[in-house]
Amino acid sequence: MTFDLRELYQEVILDHAKQPRNFGHPPACNRQAKGHNPLCGDRLTVYLTIEDGVVTDAAFEGAGCAISMASASLMTEMVKNKTEAEAHSLFELFHALVAGDQGENAENAGDGADLGKLAVFSGVREYPVRVKCATLPWHAFAAALKGKQDDVTTEE
Ligand code: ZN
Repeated sequence: MTFDLRELYQEVILDHAKQPRNFGHPPACNRQAKGHNPLCGDRLTVYLTIEDGVVTDAAFEGAGCAISMASASLMTEMVKNKTEAEAHSLFELFHALVAGDQGENAENAGDGADLGKLAVFSGVREYPVRVKCATLPWHAFAAALKGKQDDVTTEE
């Protein structure tokens, strides 16, 4: 990655961290789940509206580090209007990107073209302690999709 690209990625992350999109508790939502990353202290709740298997709305609220807030903000933008299956495969691609998985996920990840804006998190894999900050909103999202009532934690 060139220095310029890295700087651009950092700008996007900081922008979303400072002004998170889709922040707040939407009046109408039919799925929700809480996530907690005890290593960093990130806590958030993801709210989803699912209609006929499509994520028609996504929002979150909570507090945490810049990486977790920016990841939640970009996630809520990216999953909107995706089917549950599409959103879940996006999670797998994202996890492969930030965790640098060498398993089956990595093969599916390809060149990351389908990740769109989520590519800004590609630098996170160089900071293993930050990977859980980036994936926390997605774990909460996956729990909300499954209709789980228990809080999710990155330390299970
Ligand atoms: Zn964090």
